[in-house]
Amino acid sequence: MYRSHTCGELRLADVNQSVTLSGWVQKVRNLGGMTFVDLRDRYGITQLVLDIESSKELSEKARKLGREYVIQVKGKVEERSNKNDKLPTGDIEILVDELKLLNPSELPPFTIEDETDGGDELRMKYRYLDLRRNPVRRNLELRHRLGFEVRNYLNQKNFIETETPVLIKSTPEGARDFIVPSRMNQGEFYALPQSPQVFKQLLMVAGFDRYFQIVKCFRDEDLRADRQPEFTQIDCEMAFVEQQDVLETFEGMTKHLFKVIKNVDFDFEFPQMPFEEAIKNYGSDKPDIRFEMKFVEMKDMVANCGFKVFEDAEYVGGICAQGCAGYSRKELDKLTDFVRKPQIGAQGLVYVKYNTDGSFKSSVDKFFDETALTKWAEAYGAKPGDLLLILAGPKARTQSALCELRLEMGKRLGLRDKNKFAPLWVVDFPLLEWDKETERYHAMHHPFTSPKIEDLALLDSDPGRVRANAYDLVINGVEIGGGSIRIHNDELQHKMFQLLGFTEEEAEGQFGFLMNAFKYGAPPHGGVAFGFDRLVSLFAGIDSIRDVIAFPKNNSGRDVMIDSPSPVTEAQLDELSIKMKEIKQ
Ligand code: ASP
Repeated sequence: MYRSHTCGELRLADVNQSVTLSGWVQKVRNLGGMTFVDLRDRYGITQLVLDIESSKELSEKARKLGREYVIQVKGKVEERSNKNDKLPTGDIEILVDELKLLNPSELPPFTIEDETDGGDELRMKYRYLDLRRNPVRRNLELRHRLGFEVRNYLNQKNFIETETPVLIKSTPEGARDFIVPSRMNQGEFYALPQSPQVFKQLLMVAGFDRYFQIVKCFRDEDLRADRQPEFTQIDCEMAFVEQQDVLETFEGMTKHLFKVIKNVDFDFEFPQMPFEEAIKNYGSDKPDIRFEMKFVEMKDMVANCGFKVFEDAEYVGGICAQGCAGYSRKELDKLTDFVRKPQIGAQGLVYVKYNTDGSFKSSVDKFFDETALTKWAEAYGAKPGDLLLILAGPKARTQSALCELRLEMGKRLGLRDKNKFAPLWVVDFPLLEWDKETERYHAMHHPFTSPKIEDLALLDSDPGRVRANAYDLVINGVEIGGGSIRIHNDELQHKMFQLLGFTEEEAEGQFGFLMNAFKYGAPPHGGVAFGFDRLVSLFAGIDSIRDVIAFPKNNSGRDVMIDSPSPVTEAQLDELSIKMKEIKQ
């Protein structure tokens, strides 16, 4: 054994014990004749001490140790005279009487400290060193605990963890597939799963009844802070369930995780908010309901007002920022710049200051008198001291810009506390979404989602108005999970493919196996999948999912540590009968 204890384990009660420790050298300090070494492993740091008087050779050896050298020491646990209350092991130190160098280290390219001097790219290139740092390691420990508790909970509820294949066939789930050429079937390709969707449904047909899997999914999309080309889902499916059964089961799981990991009790049922209401009040299907600041629509209030911008706009609406009437010209200009950013997309910003003395000052004073502004203030529930911020323009774009503005104001006002959690289910999503470019309907969730029975009649007459039995779990403005009750009848599934513009042959070719399976006694079923990386980052209180993944990819989808993707040899391509075209820049 290389060690009798870890570097985070020894306490006052262990004084006088002879111990063996192994780990990495964090720091060496020389104070007069004394040498102190901080020895680190995953569990903590223990101070080693050597005295030149009593052991000259050993002390000299210790003085030569560099950062990140791997060593083994034997010695006796002693009470420290100079205690360090910041370290759990801070009451003791090890008086070393044997020191063995297990492996030297080159000087690491950045400091292995909580606050490091290493930039992002450098830390990713040496990720194995970055992972030695406490904050990064803690995120992965949290990830482990969450995964463990998910398994614990679902196991207790009779779910079976079942692996599904990674080399599958392209399924239209909205994103682009990663594809893999097949050597044994020349000219043909596998696709990596965007999710195990059809497999989990087939497991329900197989009678598995309750399935889950913590599983890698692959989507070839442009990347953002909360997206990676490969990410992990907690993927689940249940048979003989209705929507409410699924919601209750996974609300239970969410509550369990918050309780055991964060000691947060949700002693209430998660609110269920129809999609339409979420868009109307928050301009988003993933509203952050840690704070109110709901939208106020005011198109009716500004009819024939003489202000062209409002008159011509499809949508006029705003929010009330409490206590912000004192904003300076400069602050208001900054907000205007914010909403005008191309990614936000508003044309401009109208403001109304409801001053503390009860008077009004607005950017549209020319068009609206005090009586009109008083009415607005009433509609917004504004009090003296508040600021109204109003946007106008095409409906969907303006609502989404107003959503961004609301989130920005929420941030400025400190209403988005990372230690407060506001979960909700968004329900009643539309089944289909009209795509202007292709002039076709797309499945809003995926093509296997069941329409609401009461809306079935609309499928032919007004497909855009059909609602789905689909739901998302949203926490603090982040979509943590989503799922649906599925179609389990081959005729309806057929019809769905038709609506989505699949020809008979395409539907048969791509999904014949599923519709065929539905002919053999498919039970009613439904499920959900949670973004595991997002869940971990929410629990860790960080925004980027990269920080909770051991070996993530950068924004160009590259792994800079192993330098991937990378070219393959001519011989490898030959075996696959693949010839490279000129590369598009
Ligand atoms: N497969 C879906 C997704 O990845 C989740 C589900 O419907 O269960 O979003």
